[in-house]
Amino acid sequence: MATRLCIDGQWTEAGGGALPTRDPATGGILEEVGTASRADVDAAVAAARRALSAPGWAGLLPIRRAALLFRLAELVEQHHEELARLETLDQGQPIGVSRQVSVTGAAEHFRYFAGWVTKLQGTTNPVSFPDTLHYTRREPVGVNALITPWNFPLMILAWKLAPALATGNTVVIKPSEVTPLTSIRLVELVHEAGIPAGVVNLVTGDGAVGALLTEHPDVDHVSYTGSTAVGKLITAASAASNLKRLTLELGGKAPSIIAADADIDAAVAGNLAGATLNTGQVCAAYTRFYVDRKREQEFVDKLARGLEGLRLGPGTEETTQVGPLVSEKHREHVDFLVSTGRDQGADLVTGGNPVDGDGYFYTPTLFAGVRDDMAIMREEIFGPVLAVTAYDDGDEPLARANDTEYGLAATVWTRDIRTAQRYADGLRAGAVFVNMPPIPDMAAPWGGYKASGWGREMGPWALDAYTETKSVWLHYGS
Ligand code: NAD
Repeated sequence: MATRLCIDGQWTEAGGGALPTRDPATGGILEEVGTASRADVDAAVAAARRALSAPGWAGLLPIRRAALLFRLAELVEQHHEELARLETLDQGQPIGVSRQVSVTGAAEHFRYFAGWVTKLQGTTNPVSFPDTLHYTRREPVGVNALITPWNFPLMILAWKLAPALATGNTVVIKPSEVTPLTSIRLVELVHEAGIPAGVVNLVTGDGAVGALLTEHPDVDHVSYTGSTAVGKLITAASAASNLKRLTLELGGKAPSIIAADADIDAAVAGNLAGATLNTGQVCAAYTRFYVDRKREQEFVDKLARGLEGLRLGPGTEETTQVGPLVSEKHREHVDFLVSTGRDQGADLVTGGNPVDGDGYFYTPTLFAGVRDDMAIMREEIFGPVLAVTAYDDGDEPLARANDTEYGLAATVWTRDIRTAQRYADGLRAGAVFVNMPPIPDMAAPWGGYKASGWGREMGPWALDAYTETKSVWLHYGS
């Protein structure tokens, strides 16, 4: 099943060859997954276009469309353990993370957005034209390309698919070539739930397949999560084709400010979780730590002990806290940036090397005495690599934390509500967490400032991304 694409409800052989997907804990090949050809992509987009106005989808009463999404949520829950194991095998994440974050998160997204289907409203508006009723209605944007990354493949797909379906759209999914397996399985469950053929299509393959979608003249909206570099290519492709709408969830380099009055034990525990969840392969992971100099030594010592105590191992083992990195190529990227940290003079406190043996493991790494101009402080590493620097004055860390191209998430650790509020106001990031790890929630907006993206996912904000607002003027005078 996994070698095939899903177009118009049919599983078909891919026209462009196949790519292996690997178990990052061993390096072994799990499956060969198809690469869609241009003809496959055209067929998937055409199927999505037809389904958009098909009576079985466009004519469905909201309460029935909601029922399909509730059913999908139930099916994800019924297959909870199977999906969690598949995510762990393909992505490497510890099984506890797959269960609680990825699969539970995906099911909850479908259930949450199922609830919105019957609550989508327009407005009536007091226009200054006589004898005229003015109202707005929300209509689906149309055909949506959902292009996803490898770090949380199932959950991030649910972030997009749930609001897209809730608002009556149709989609073509393009999962990451590195981790396609749970997306393929989810599309099987979509059809088992009774969602009509052609509403959800799936094409697999690498970035070239994604590019065919972003250039396609009949795609209305691309919802993309991935690197900022590819986000820029997608923006150019949209501008050069049909100016399709874009939702972009891009890279991050989240700062963490630890004030002099912080509860250091709580800050160490929270930052450890925030920095190492899914082996640091989290867009909102805490990576740059600005610590009041009076607490620096204590923070660094405790953080190092915490990192050294984490249990590294295959994600399939119940006790594993840190799994492998997703691929050999990604481990080389992490190791390269760690070596720049050493070369540029940061103090390596712990870690700093790949683990010998099978799989793509890397030791959790801590640098202290880091300068703001070092690569490890500026570039997205996307691994378990933490960089600490000190500050002397409470006004200093705000400007230093904001000195970045990114603006996805930030965090502050303090016991003073005024300090918390001052930083929450001043930090240029889509989400500011006070005294807690970075946790997305379906009821709160998620998205970036600056080069971290365009638009917001989750909550009612996601409904805006997948709907057009039509303005209707109804003149009833003579
Ligand atoms: P990536 O940019 O390499 O790939 C993401 C997806 O884009 C994949 O499906 C890939 O095949 C596709 N793609 C590649 N080139 C393309 C092109 N030219 N046109 C269209 N599609 C193309 O990202 P990744 O390495 O899979 O994921 C890691 C990145 O994702 C990190 O930068 C991380 O910060 C970001 N991310 C952001 C969020 C967020 O919410 N902001 C969440 C998770 C991950």
